[in-house]
Amino acid sequence: MIDECASEKKQLSSIAEALARISSAIEPVTETERVELKHGLGRVLAEPVYSAINSPFERNSAMDGYAFSSTDLIPDQTMSLTQVGISWAGQPYQGSLQSGQCVRIFTGAVLPVETDSVVMQEQVQVKASSIIFPAQTQAKQHVRAAGEDSKQGDLVCAAFKKITAIDLGLLASVGIDRLIVTRKVKIAYFSTGNELSALGQPLVSGKIYDSNRYLLSGLLSDVCYQVTDLGVLADDPLQLEDCLLAAAKNHDLIISTGGASVGDADYIKDVLARCGKVDFWKIAIKPGKPLAFGNINDCHFFGLPGNPVAVAVTFQHIVAPALEQLCGTAMSQPLQLLARCTSVLKKSPGRQEYQRGIVSQANNGDLVVVSSGQQGSNILSATSLANCYIVLPIECSGIQVGEQVRIELIKNVASSVISY
Ligand code: AMP
Ligand code: MG
Repeated sequence: MIDECASEKKQLSSIAEALARISSAIEPVTETERVELKHGLGRVLAEPVYSAINSPFERNSAMDGYAFSSTDLIPDQTMSLTQVGISWAGQPYQGSLQSGQCVRIFTGAVLPVETDSVVMQEQVQVKASSIIFPAQTQAKQHVRAAGEDSKQGDLVCAAFKKITAIDLGLLASVGIDRLIVTRKVKIAYFSTGNELSALGQPLVSGKIYDSNRYLLSGLLSDVCYQVTDLGVLADDPLQLEDCLLAAAKNHDLIISTGGASVGDADYIKDVLARCGKVDFWKIAIKPGKPLAFGNINDCHFFGLPGNPVAVAVTFQHIVAPALEQLCGTAMSQPLQLLARCTSVLKKSPGRQEYQRGIVSQANNGDLVVVSSGQQGSNILSATSLANCYIVLPIECSGIQVGEQVRIELIKNVASSVISY
């Protein structure tokens, strides 16, 4: 007798196996383009960036106060120095200083060469041009050294880094105004299914609205992607084949939803096998088991399931890492946190589940997670309420109230962690 469960288990790939196969199949794009720094946010650097200057450019004050030479200090005694000028941010003091003299200085202003220390203005007494320094005045305080942030020639951003807002600030601080980045990845996507109806017309019996293309357009909203919406295709192998062959000519990746399972109207796997190559098509996750990966000539292909929640889960865990590699960055793993679960969660062993949850943070810092509602792979309403996935490993057979679970924060959700 054939053990169907055992034979299905053999066919299923884990996420790690799937990602390893994707990683060895995908070469990052090699073409590059030059962008102005202000357009660099989210792009992937194609080359390392080195500092053009010392940053700070010159020694300057970290405080509003008075700059003086530490050679004037007498240990444990107050001292009086004569103020001979002012060093403003952007307008350094131009004169020179003798022993017994100091200058008024403001944050960011260059220290005169004869000085090496700054005292905060709150700590001195001002009597006309005499500045009385307290006995506990320290030498060499509140001075920022030239190059203490980055030295000229230092690596400031490594190649293949995805540029963040902080990086934009850092790169500007060292005088970089243009970046060489990897070119945008060209992605085409479409929905399949005879039941799909366009928005803007009333539904007739048997039809549903096509939510997946809208969901995908949101998931694919990234400055590194140039996307083409190919619309809705019928469950028709010839139409699917024509579309795949045409789109493969001028895209790096095609994503379809629906028709990836084993029903009589599910043609994606067969069509892909005819016009390209299928690498695998079942992954041990829920939702999202039926998933095809392969290629048509030089174009990669993901055939995602039809159910919208399965589209979201497989995109975020399988397609997004593949896109990271295609864009030139390293594949990243979602950060998992521990939380105490306050719902009973049903599960059968066999697949890793991504149940939808709402995580909040108690006053003591502990994370508490509750199920966001119905867990069917078609249930978008409870997924919309969720701010995290509750990740239940393959062997888990359910969760009781109070058990610790792993969670992953869902990207692209409006509600982040809620505090109470
Ligand atoms: P399939 O994998 O094509 O058998 O689809 C699985 C389930 O997902 C079915 O209930 C489909 O009606 C539904 N589905 C497929 N494509 C979409 C779509 N674009 N939007 C919403 N639901 C879909
Ligand atoms: Mg279908």
